Amino acid sequence: MTNPALSKHPAEWLKIAAEGLCCASGGFHIDPVQPVERAVITHGHSDHARAGHAAVLATPETVAIMQARYGPDQPTRYQSLAYNEPIRLGEVTLTLVPAGHVLGSAQVVLEHAGARVVISGDYKRRPDPTCPPFEPVPCDVFITEATFGLPVFRHPDDGHEIQRLLHSLSIFPERAHLVGVYALGKCQRVIALLRQAGYDRPLYMHGALLGLCELYERFGVPLGPLIHVTGENKAALKGQIVLGPPSAPADRWSRALPDPVSAMASGWMRIKQRAKAGGIELPLVISDHADWDELNRTIDEVGAPEVWITHGREEALVHHLGLKGYRARALALAGFEEEGQ
Ligand SMILES: [Zn+2]
Ligand SMILES: [Zn+2]
Repeated sequence: MTNPALSKHPAEWLKIAAEGLCCASGGFHIDPVQPVERAVITHGHSDHARAGHAAVLATPETVAIMQARYGPDQPTRYQSLAYNEPIRLGEVTLTLVPAGHVLGSAQVVLEHAGARVVISGDYKRRPDPTCPPFEPVPCDVFITEATFGLPVFRHPDDGHEIQRLLHSLSIFPERAHLVGVYALGKCQRVIALLRQAGYDRPLYMHGALLGLCELYERFGVPLGPLIHVTGENKAALKGQIVLGPPSAPADRWSRALPDPVSAMASGWMRIKQRAKAGGIELPLVISDHADWDELNRTIDEVGAPEVWITHGREEALVHHLGLKGYRARALALAGFEEEGQ
């Protein structure tokens, strides 16, 4: 630690346990992968927001997403905390700050023993019409994800990717356009980006995506006309945009669509082999995570001399940060998959 005033280094009160990142001085875990007494949850993706905790603290949006996903029969006690309202937990002051990843996503800011530690959760830096933007918070230790922590990952402009979809629609008016999207976040962002681009026709939705779209609208994110795809209307969707879960383009569900162009909106579509292996004709590189440049810019902005990396492609980032004079370490937390990339 460069700050000599610190009585205790954060590594003494923030540790890796079997359940995940554990703050003993505050009596909670952050995004634990196993059931715990008290979990602080950064956002609703299922690898971060698991079922079975005795108590959960999260933003109101994340609480609503977890309640919708896990149903009313869970014994979990939920506590909502709005952005930028500090609370005291044990000896620690905790604040949730927007992370710009999906509706309700938060960074966790912890203050204890003269140090400030920020746990980023998943985040991105591009404007997203469906959630408030990431707020950089100066800190002593920055704990970041690194899903796309390789220099090959430089996401293109999302407006450009949406124009590619609309262009394909204009040159193939006889074909449906089936876009695979994660149900939480990517789905609503793609819809909002289409609306921003002036596309005001109805969007046709796989039933698995509708619940979270309704939840977004309840929280004040307008999505325009959405129509449920059913057995009856499926064959009549030529020239329409259809949104389905990521499995839909390869699934028998899509077979009755009129000659569908299969598209997928994901940061992984940057990897051409990956699109090809999934049978994706129109890969759309739209990611809800920071790319390589944004990871590095964010680390510079928060000014922490010490950076811990939770999950993702950490080796390249640890190496690169070391060259720049940061003390960087990989936590290699297990249990984080690729939902919502
Ligand atoms: Zn996520
Ligand atoms: Zn994640």
